[in-house]
Amino acid sequence: MIDFSIPSETQMLLESLRRFIKEELAPHEAEVEEVQYVRPELARELRDKAKNLGLFAMGMPAEVGGGGLSAVDMCLCEEEFGFTKDALVRRAFGAIPGSLENCVGDQREKYLLPAVRGDINVALGMTEPNAGSDAAGIKTTARRDGDDFIINGSKHFISDADVADAFIVTAVTDPSKGGKGISAFLIDKGTPGFTVGRIQYMMGLRATNHAELVFENVRLPKSQMLGPEGSGLFQALSTINKVRLGMVGGRSVGMARKLLQMSIDYANERKQFGQPIGQFQMVQAMLADMATEIFAARMMVLNAAWETDQGFDPREKVSMVKYYASEMLGRVADKAVQIFGGMGYCREMPLEQLYRDARVYRIFDGASDIHRVVIARSLLKNGRQAL
Ligand SMILES: Cc1cc2nc3c(=O)[nH]c(=O)nc-3n(C[C@H](O)[C@H](O)[C@H](O)COP(=O)(O)OP(=O)(O)OC[C@H]3O[C@@H](n4cnc5c(N)ncnc54)[C@H](O)[C@@H]3O)c2cc1C
Repeated sequence: MIDFSIPSETQMLLESLRRFIKEELAPHEAEVEEVQYVRPELARELRDKAKNLGLFAMGMPAEVGGGGLSAVDMCLCEEEFGFTKDALVRRAFGAIPGSLENCVGDQREKYLLPAVRGDINVALGMTEPNAGSDAAGIKTTARRDGDDFIINGSKHFISDADVADAFIVTAVTDPSKGGKGISAFLIDKGTPGFTVGRIQYMMGLRATNHAELVFENVRLPKSQMLGPEGSGLFQALSTINKVRLGMVGGRSVGMARKLLQMSIDYANERKQFGQPIGQFQMVQAMLADMATEIFAARMMVLNAAWETDQGFDPREKVSMVKYYASEMLGRVADKAVQIFGGMGYCREMPLEQLYRDARVYRIFDGASDIHRVVIARSLLKNGRQAL
């Protein structure tokens, strides 16, 4: 028998998350959208409140002070996160790169544990102006000089760069080895030669800021290397599935559920030709399509998360989740705007904001096209075993 029920402990966690989002985060949504950042004192206040309720760093392992949630539970939490703004989620509940778990020795005291406590923010810098989808094509170099490494190059689009105290950065340590010649380094803000550049303002996700990083002869001791030499790309890719499932899959389902709820309410309230627009079959068709696609995406997310919890490596399914859930969100957002008519396009409603926010889910953490390539290659190689 397959049991799809949500355990009462998880239900209680989701209830408390819902309450927190409604009471503590929602009142600040308009402000952060307007000013495009989260005030540091507000960030501290939200983090402290979330910590007191055990809602901070929920996806990090319990051994390092995190909530130790399973992939399934984390995806359910991400659905709730989809009901508010990404920037508030990051500051209240934490946005900790998974590869920080590879910290060893003093690195744990300096980076991993403070990040899980919420004392420092850490950002992940891989993408470069000339290397996005092709993450192995980076040009930033880490040249050995005695016991040190000298870093030169640049990154862009790095989320949270404006608030990060430290960065995990990929750089080429051995150009002859391709992807296996890329290593990861921990770099503190303020290290001589390292500059956080201009903020690159985006179409959506306002207040989650993305910036350039510039490295000019940055000298780092070998102790700043994260994980073994040559494992930088592998570390990033082996933790990214968690992000794709939760922060993209679960979050897309949550955002789409919010859009559907708003659309249902509007279809019941808004009258044209003497009746609620929800009585018109073409509006009904849109609502039905939205709900059906959300249901499909939700099942995909939870199934791939469950397989992850069982110790499998469902990478093709994770690609399907990343691809389908983000595309589903785009279609749901588009239909929601249509149901709202002119009001959907008007800045007085939060809908245009959600529509803009939704767009990037099809681009980051592997664009849809890249995931379709991954799925197809696996099918051609393994046949239906990919399922
Ligand atoms: C809001 C936001 C936040 C981000 N945060 C971070 C972050 O914190 N850290 C970080 O390192 N990066 C971050 N990124 C970067 C992000 O991961 C990249 O934008 C993404 O990987 C795509 O790379 P690109 O933008 O260079 O597009 P490109 O790689 O130039 O792709 C352009 C187009 O070509 C297509 N394409 C490329 N190669 C292929 C192929 N082989 N087959 C078929 N189609 C292909 C793509 O699908 C896409 O449609 C962020 C980006 C955004 C927009």
